[in-house]
This record gives sequence, C-alpha cells and structure tokens, in this order.
Amino acid sequence: MSKIVVIGSSSIDLVVSASKRPNAGETIIGDSFKTVPGGKGANQAVAAARLGAEVYMIGCVGKDNYGNTILDNFRNNNVCIDFVEPVTHSETGTAHIVLAEGDNSIIVVKGANDYITPDFINKAKSVIQTADIVLIQQEIPEETVEHVAELCDFFQVPLILNPAPARVISENVIEKAAYLTPNEHETSILFEDMTKEEALRKYPNKLLITEGRNGVRYFNGEVEVLVPSYNVEAVDTTGAGDTFNAAFAVALSEGKSIENSLQFANRAASLSVMKFGAQGGMPTRSEVERNL
Ligand code: ADP
Repeated sequence: MSKIVVIGSSSIDLVVSASKRPNAGETIIGDSFKTVPGGKGANQAVAAARLGAEVYMIGCVGKDNYGNTILDNFRNNNVCIDFVEPVTHSETGTAHIVLAEGDNSIIVVKGANDYITPDFINKAKSVIQTADIVLIQQEIPEETVEHVAELCDFFQVPLILNPAPARVISENVIEKAAYLTPNEHETSILFEDMTKEEALRKYPNKLLITEGRNGVRYFNGEVEVLVPSYNVEAVDTTGAGDTFNAAFAVALSEGKSIENSLQFANRAASLSVMKFGAQGGMPTRSEVERNL
C-alpha cells in the first residue's frame, strides 16, 4: 500500500437552503439545514483513503463537538489521525454556506486551521520523511506551505500543491513542488502576467490545469496534452477538485505515469460529481476500476 500524507484544513460545513437571502436586519424562514464534514485537506484525505492508500492527515481541529465529528469521520474512512491535534485555544474551522436563488454565499471561519504552523508540522517530520507523496492545499497559513515545500525538497518526497483557494505563491515553492494543480480561475491568479499556454510551457510535466468537465491540460515537454474527463450527469461539483487531487496522488504513488494518473483522477472526479456533497460522492477503488 502506498503512503500518502495530506497536510491541510478540516472543517464543518453548515449548509442552509432558503428561497432567498435575508437582507441586513431581516429574519426569514429557511427550508433545510445540513451539517457536513469538509475542508480541502480533510476532503482529500478521505478521498485518497477510499481509493485504497494508507493516509496520514496532518491538521488541527478544536476540542469541541465539531472537532469530534471530524475525527470520527476520519476514523470511519480509515484515515490515520495520529497527527491531527485537537487544540484548546480555538474552535474547529467552519464554513457557513447559504444556498439561495441558485447560488451559494459562504463565510469561512478558519479557527483551528490557523494553528497548522511550521512548528506544528515539525512534530510530524517522521511521517513526512517516509511518505510516497505529500499533498497540500492553501486553506492553511502561507508560511506553512513554504515550510512543507522546503521539507519535502530536503527529504526528496514529491509534493503535490493544489493551490486552492488562489493566492500568489513564491517562485521557490513552485520550483520545489513536483506538481501544481490549479483550476482555470486559480491559474489566472497564479500566473496573471502570462497566458495559459505560456504558463504550461514554462512548467512542463508540473503544471496540471484542471478544466472542469473538459478534464485536465499540461505540457509534456513536446506538446500540450488535454486528458479528457468523462461525460457524466453532474449533480454537485463541490469537491471535484479534491477527489481529483487525491486520486492523482494515489495513482502516482503506485508508479503510474502522469498521463495514466490523470486518467485515473478524471475518472474518480467525474464519479464524485454524480452525488451530493464534497465527500458524499467520493468513489471507492473498485468503483473507479469498474468504470475505467
Ligand atoms: P475545482 O473543483 O477545483 O474547481 P475543476 O472544476 O477544474 O476543479 O474540476 C476538477 C476535475 O474534476 C476536472 O479536471 C475533472 O476531472 C472533474 N470534473 C469536474 N466537473 C466535472 C463534470 N461536470 N464532469 C466530469 N468531470 C468533472
């Protein structure tokens, strides 16, 4: 079994559906309420574990009920939580989501995710050093991403940086990461002074741009390659990118080529959009293989 370390956020999504959004000072009656585990780090850890990898999560939750729910969810999905710390000085991270008028509006409270500092990461050096692949996103402090890039480079462990949510990242981090997996919006922020084609050519076999239902594009050193996704009936695309990144990490860690790993990632991600919720649709290994 390959060993994947995921470093990132864990949170609880509090999702309200209503026919409209209240104005300032207004109270309205909503239609429904759901509490679901989320956070890009947690989502990617759960997705990788369902796909059969040995997964270690590195992160922080609050010492509260939401934190316990997150830990239970990791256990139920076979994610190792030896390096997930319940902290006393902050609440579990939450995302407050209103679904109304065909769109969502979201307030994120980072909470315990802000305590995933470089010093905290150093406590998990032993597991990082022995990983086949490390997977990280950007819902955690910027200096932590920098630090992990340095550590992975030092230990010669390949790092996949999913630069979401978008922010400008240093040339040092880009250089040290083995793969970058922005979607199109994140690409335009990361490489604002370049066209997509220029960016792809600058980072051959490293920059992998996901294009939703179209699939994923990269430059292989000779030509630009589009690895197409699969035609499915999409119900909820939340977390498509998380499943994609996890599946890509799992396939790479098993020694598959970039192109074959991207095919596997497209297949897993396309299956994930057929059900509600970020984690709700994440497929198991056998579901992906049956459909490949
Ligand atoms: P994000 O979810 O991070 O915004 P994308 O929308 O680019 O990222 O989706 C990531 C991947 O998920 C795509 O490369 C593709 O493999 C898959 N995917 C997303 N939406 C669909 C869809 N409607 N049909 C099939 N595959 C999809």
